[in-house]
Amino acid sequence: MTRPLPVTGRDNAYYWEGVAKGDVLIQKCTACGSLRHPPSPMCPDCQSLDWTTVKATGHAVLHSYTICHHPLPPWEEGPYAVVLIDLDMEDSDARPRIVCGTRGIANEDLRIEMPLSLVFEDGLVFAGPAQEGGAP
Ligand SMILES: [Zn+2]
Repeated sequence: MTRPLPVTGRDNAYYWEGVAKGDVLIQKCTACGSLRHPPSPMCPDCQSLDWTTVKATGHAVLHSYTICHHPLPPWEEGPYAVVLIDLDMEDSDARPRIVCGTRGIANEDLRIEMPLSLVFEDGLVFAGPAQEGGAP
């Protein structure tokens, strides 16, 4: 069985379209400038419905993680890591977080605050080892 693709709708299509092109896009309120994720139609800070997107640079830092041992979905070889990462953003000091899997990092090598790079594979985004060019 292959991994099911995310369910997309009006509020989150921009995110998955960005990931398909190799970008993580985060919503930015055009009224107050705050960033928000996961996608939502309204700004939680000022209730504006107007928003745009800003790009993540591709660098991130490990905020937290868990190792899933079972039950394993049929497309995963376990145990596998689920990580919460702080994104480095273009033109912003904000560090929005996303949840994703990992590629190229052994579970036992995960360390809180370790630098990471975004890896795009099969229409999804993963956290991988920090690439040359430096951590944020
Ligand atoms: Zn706002």
